Amino acid sequence: MPESTHGPAPHPAPSGAPTPPVAGRVLVTGGTVIGPDTTEPADVLVENGLIRAVASPGVLRPAAADETIDAGGCWVLPGGIDPHTHLDTLIRGHRTCDDFHQGTVAALAGGTTSIVDFCYPEPGESPLAALHAWRARMLAQRPAADVGVHLVLVQPGEDELAELPRLVAEGVTSIKVYMAYRGRRMTDDRGLLRILQCVAPLGITVLVHAENGDAIDLLTAQAIDRGETAPHHHSHTRPDLLEAEAVNRIAHLARVAGARVYIVHVSGSTALDPIRRARAAGWDVHGETCPHYLVLDEHALEGDLATAAQAVCSPPLRRAADQDALWQALADGTLAMVSSDHCAFRIADQKITEPRFDCILNGLPGIEQRIMLLHHFGVRTGRITPRCWADAVSTSPARMFGLLPRKGLIAPGADADLLVFDPERRRPLTVADHHSAVDHLPYEGIEVIGAPRAVLAGGRIAVRDGRPVPGLAGGGRFLARTPSVPHAEEPRPAAPVLQTT
Ligand code: MN
Ligand code: MN
Repeated sequence: MPESTHGPAPHPAPSGAPTPPVAGRVLVTGGTVIGPDTTEPADVLVENGLIRAVASPGVLRPAAADETIDAGGCWVLPGGIDPHTHLDTLIRGHRTCDDFHQGTVAALAGGTTSIVDFCYPEPGESPLAALHAWRARMLAQRPAADVGVHLVLVQPGEDELAELPRLVAEGVTSIKVYMAYRGRRMTDDRGLLRILQCVAPLGITVLVHAENGDAIDLLTAQAIDRGETAPHHHSHTRPDLLEAEAVNRIAHLARVAGARVYIVHVSGSTALDPIRRARAAGWDVHGETCPHYLVLDEHALEGDLATAAQAVCSPPLRRAADQDALWQALADGTLAMVSSDHCAFRIADQKITEPRFDCILNGLPGIEQRIMLLHHFGVRTGRITPRCWADAVSTSPARMFGLLPRKGLIAPGADADLLVFDPERRRPLTVADHHSAVDHLPYEGIEVIGAPRAVLAGGRIAVRDGRPVPGLAGGGRFLARTPSVPHAEEPRPAAPVLQTT
C-alpha cells in the first residue's frame, strides 16, 4: 500500500509483542542534573513520555510517582543522541550486522536514546520514495530508541534535487555526501556545489565525509601494485593531508553557496586546521569526531590480519598526538559533537573480503561504548568538563540536527529521554557482555569507570541497574526534525514548572 506523502507514516504494528506501554509517572531523585543552563542537584518527574517537572531536591514527592529511580551519586543527562550510525546498511555487498532493533538496544545500554542513521536511495531512485521505504523498514524492525535519517546523495539530477523541500516537510533536514570512495559514493566538485546551492535556502545541513577520493584512489592502486597489501597500508594511502584538503575544499564550496556543512569523523590535528580557520571567519562549518579517534591510534593496524583488520576505518586511525588535538578541539568548541560512526561487520565472516587492505570493509563498532568512553577518557582525566561531555553526546547533536528543544535538554515539555550515569560504576568493555551482534570490539579489555545506572527512553525505563530491561523491543519512533535556524532564533525550553503534587 503506498504511503501518504502528507506526513510521517503512523507506526506500523508488526506481529509480535505489542509496543511496551509508557510508564505512568517516574521520579528520578537524588542526582545532579546537567540542565540547559545549570548543573545542580535536582529531581526530575516524568509523565506520559514527557518531562513534567525539574525541581530542587525534595520538592517533588515520591508519592506522586508510580516508580522512583534512585540517582544518588549520579549525573542525570539528557538521553544520548548519536547522529552518525550505520545500522542494517548494505556496503559493498555486505550488510552491517546490527539491525535497527539490536543496534538500538545496544545504544540504550550505553545511554543513547536517539540515533540518526542514513537512507541510501538507489541511483536514479526518487529520494522521497527511498525515504518512505527506508522509514517503513526501520520501524518494522522494532527499534527500541528513536530513529531518524540523513539522506545520502551521490550525483543527483535536478528532478531529485527538486524533491528536497518535500523531504524537509517530512522531517529529513540533513543530507550526506562523500568526497571519498571514487566510483562508488563520491560526488565530484560540480555535484557538491550544486547540492550545496539547493540545500542552502532550505536550512538543510550537509554532512560530509571529507577525504580526497581521487588522490586516495591513485595511492591505493600504487600501493597494491607494489605488493603493499597489509592493513597498515590502509593508513599510508589515506594521509591526513588528503583529509585536510577535502575539509578545506568543502568549507569553501559551502561558503560560495551559503550552506551549512558538518564534517563527520574528523580524525586528527591536520584536518582541524581548516575547520578552525573557517569557524574563526564566521563560516557555517561544524564537525564531529568519534571515540575511536580519541582513544585508539595507528598502532592498532599492526599485528596479524584478523586483529589489524578490526581497526580499519576511514579516515584511518592517526597518531597518539592527534588524540590530544581532538580532545583540545572538543574542549575549545572547534568540534562540538562526538558520534559513534557505528558500522559493525563481523570479523569471522564479513570484514575481510580478501586479505588485502583495500578489501577490508571499513567501520568500527561503538554505539554502546560512546558515552562511557568519552566520560572515562575525557571527563575523568579532566580533558573535558561534564558539561562539555553532555553537550557532545546529546545537546549539540540535538541543536545541529533539528531536535531541540524536544531532545537534548532536561526541561519541562521535552521528551523523557534521561541517562542516569553513575560515574563510579565499573564496566568491562568486552564482546562477552555487550548488546551488539558484532563479534569483536576495538576496546576489548578496557574497563571503564562510569556507566549508565538507568535509562529512560520516551518515558519508558529501558535500562535498570545498569542492564537493559529484558524484552526491550519497539517503542522507538521516527524522528521528524526541523531545519536549521540562525542561533539567535533557536527555540528555548519553557520555564521550569515546579510540580508538587
Ligand atoms: Mn565516512
Ligand atoms: Mn560513517
